[in-house]
Amino acid sequence: MSKMFGTNGIRGEANGYLSCELSLKTGKAIAEVLGPGPIAIAMDTRVSSDMIRSAVSAGLMSMGVEVHDLGMVPTPALQYYVKINEDVTGGVMITASHNPPEFNGIKCISADGTECSHEEESAIEDAYDRDLKTVPWDRIGSVITIEGAGEAYIDAVVSKVDADLIRKADLTVVLDCANGASVHTSPLLMEKLGVRAVVLNGEPDGMFPGHYSEPVEENLSELKSEVVRVGADLGIAHDGDADRCVFVSDTGKYLPGDVGLALLSILCMKTTEGKKQVVSTVALSDMVEDAIIEAGGTLTRTAVGSPVVARRMIEDGAPIGGEDNGGIIFADHQFCRDGALAAARMIEFAARYGSIQKHVDALPEYCTIKTAVYCDENRKSYVIDRLAEKYASEKIDRTDGLKIIFSDGWVLLRPSGTEPKFRIYSESKDPKVAKDRSQSFVEDVASILG
Ligand code: MG
Repeated sequence: MSKMFGTNGIRGEANGYLSCELSLKTGKAIAEVLGPGPIAIAMDTRVSSDMIRSAVSAGLMSMGVEVHDLGMVPTPALQYYVKINEDVTGGVMITASHNPPEFNGIKCISADGTECSHEEESAIEDAYDRDLKTVPWDRIGSVITIEGAGEAYIDAVVSKVDADLIRKADLTVVLDCANGASVHTSPLLMEKLGVRAVVLNGEPDGMFPGHYSEPVEENLSELKSEVVRVGADLGIAHDGDADRCVFVSDTGKYLPGDVGLALLSILCMKTTEGKKQVVSTVALSDMVEDAIIEAGGTLTRTAVGSPVVARRMIEDGAPIGGEDNGGIIFADHQFCRDGALAAARMIEFAARYGSIQKHVDALPEYCTIKTAVYCDENRKSYVIDRLAEKYASEKIDRTDGLKIIFSDGWVLLRPSGTEPKFRIYSESKDPKVAKDRSQSFVEDVASILG
């Protein structure tokens, strides 16, 4: 069977692996699994997005599916459209999220607006390999252009925050859209919330002339300096398809994704009347867990991956969840990473509690070392079993890979889903402990592999 889906849909270089032919055939397979339709399609600003969208749409229509074309909108705007329109049976997003401009991707959305499960993705791969029969000429589908899906999404986001409180706070933000899918929606959000916004990289441009679309610190130096220059209350940055959001504090400090999740969890624990539970993964820093407990909540940890987090939130009735990469899910809106709502809620945090940096300074400090070590695919489970034996006297968690919890920190070994390597995370309050332990696990893996 063709293995096409990675952790975030099908990805590849446009006109390389991700060709028109592959896209068209994938469109047919999606129709077979997510049909009968209508199926909604949307795209980011990439140079190749028009081409891939056309090819996938042709495949869908050849199977008799009606295509709702939302144009260029963020991934969560597409997901919101699929969720609220009961007759729509699925969605397709053309994006490679944070990857360099030559890449593109196809991401599939279930009828309820959530990311497709591995089972659905396997079914699409299976259908791709079969000789699917197209419909007769008089049943071929058509494309309906849908206007206003981005605006409808933003209206829904505005309805989920205390907009009056935000308007009264008279805030200034600097917003970096990375020339990606948020260029129309997030500036509109600022306008609707009555927030003064300085917008960076606000033109749609698939060459990403401002910086690459991954919202990591080295790409956000202009955002950091602009926050300081204009004296803004907050800096906001999205990735290419705006399902994720990271922040810069009022003093111009870059806040990694786990800090954003910590602050938004605190806001949620303090304002929710329901269950005070946060869902995240085994890889999340204890810093966030401590902050959640301090705010009166609890943290539940799952395997890595936002669909896993979302499913657990649904099962447990948890109001918020997410990962340390800026992908945050809010149960009162939709069960997917929601870049615009994360932005709106952090603005609400600033409106309620004042200086973001002051609250960041109050968070507990941990040192987390992330590294990777080579390991052949077929020896990964052997290595994990040997390490579990070696550390049997410690607390072991096998939710995802192997997590060993010591009295003064933890180590997580996670097999990469795409490469022959382990990712190793080592965390402790003591930087020396974190560093030494990371090194000793690299050596452990090497010695087990001989
Ligand atoms: Mg993304």
